[in-house]
Amino acid sequence: MIQHKDIDDPHTREVIVVGGGIAGLSAAIYLGRAQRDTLVIDSGHSMAKWEPMVENYLGFANGVSGEHLLKDGRQQAEKHDVKFVDDHIEEIDRESEPGVFILHGKSGSYRAKRVILATGISHLPPEIPGVRECLGHSMFFCKDCDGFRVREKRVMIIGANDETVEYALGMLLYSACVMVATNGERTRWSEQHARWIEEYEIPVHTGRIKDVEHEEGQVLGLHFDDGREVKIDSIFTTRGDVFHTHLAEQLGAKLDAEGQLEVDHKMRTSVPRLYAAGCVTPANCQMIIAAGEGAIAAQSINRDLFEEGLKNHSLRRFREIQLEQEKTVPEGA
Ligand SMILES: Cc1cc2nc3c(=O)[nH]c(=O)nc-3n(C[C@H](O)[C@H](O)[C@H](O)COP(=O)(O)OP(=O)(O)OC[C@H]3O[C@@H](n4cnc5c(N)ncnc54)[C@H](O)[C@@H]3O)c2cc1C
Repeated sequence: MIQHKDIDDPHTREVIVVGGGIAGLSAAIYLGRAQRDTLVIDSGHSMAKWEPMVENYLGFANGVSGEHLLKDGRQQAEKHDVKFVDDHIEEIDRESEPGVFILHGKSGSYRAKRVILATGISHLPPEIPGVRECLGHSMFFCKDCDGFRVREKRVMIIGANDETVEYALGMLLYSACVMVATNGERTRWSEQHARWIEEYEIPVHTGRIKDVEHEEGQVLGLHFDDGREVKIDSIFTTRGDVFHTHLAEQLGAKLDAEGQLEVDHKMRTSVPRLYAAGCVTPANCQMIIAAGEGAIAAQSINRDLFEEGLKNHSLRRFREIQLEQEKTVPEGA
C-alpha cells in the first residue's frame, strides 16, 4: 500500500509530537491510526513515572502504574507505525522555510508540517531532606489525584500561600486530621484565608522543617529545627509548577497569566499549525484529561491536513498513484 507521506516532501513529517508522556502518546495513537506520518520526540521525564498506582484512569478498576500506561501507550502507537526518537528539543523555528517547522534537538534536527507540544510541566517538591524518597508514595502534589488515598490519615500540607489554605480546606473531606506547615516561610495567605484557617481550626506549624522521617517511601513524621517532631502519614504540597513552554515562547505563542500555553477548543495555539495538549495547557493536570486533549489535538490536525490535501491537491496526486499502482477501482466501473 502506498503511503500518503511520500507524495509531498518525504523529508518533512506530517506531524511531530514533542513529548511522549500521556498527552503525546494519546495524540500519536490517533495520528498513527489516521495514517499520518508521525514522529514522537521525547526526553523521557513524564510525570506519570512518579505515580506507582493510578486509581482514577478509566478502565483500571484495580489501578495501574504510570510506567505501565507509558509503556503500553508507546507500544500501541508503534503498532500504528508511529516512530519514536529519544531526544530533547532545544529550539524550534518556522521562519526559515514557509509551512515547515524545523526542530533542533540535542541529537538531531527534524522537520514537520504540524507540531503538537505535549511537553508537560514539572512539579517542584520542597527542598527538605527525605521528601524525594516519598514522592508518589506518601508525598503528593495533587489532591484530586491522591486525596482519596489518604482518607482518615494524618495529612500535612506544606506551603504558606492561599493555595495551601485551600488544599487544607479541601482535604477536610478526606480526613479530620489536616495540618499546615509553613516550613519557616512568612505566610502569604490573604486575610480571608487566615480567617478560614481559624474558623476551621486547622493547626499551623510555623517552624522550619529539618527533615522527613520515612521508611520505604512512607512518611512517618516531620522533624523541626527546634527539636519538635510531628507524626504524620502523608504530605501534600502546592505544586510550584514549571510549565515547559520555552519552545512555544520561541515561536511567540500566547501564554496565560499562570504561564500555561493558551489553546482553543481544538487545541490550537495562537501560532498557526502549532497545537498543544496536556499539562502544558490550562488543563486540570490529570492523566485522563491529558490523554483526551492529545486525542483532540490529533483529530484537529488530521482534519486540517485533510483540508490542506484537498486545497493543494496532494490528495489528488496520491489518488493518481493509487489508481495506477493499486487498481482499486474495479474494471468497468
Ligand atoms: C507524584 C505524581 C502523582 C500523580 N498521580 C496522578 C494520578 O494518580 N492520576 C492522574 O490522573 N494524574 C496524576 N499525576 C499527573 C500526571 O502525571 C499528569 O497529568 C500527566 O503525566 C500529564 O501528561 P502530559 O503528557 O501532559 O505530561 P507528561 O506525562 O509529564 O509528559 C511530558 C513529556 O514531554 C517530554 N518533554 C518535555 N520537554 C521536552 C522537549 N523539549 N523535548 C522532548 N521531550 C520533552 C518529557 O520528557 C515528558 O516525557 C501525577 C503527577 C505526579 C507528579
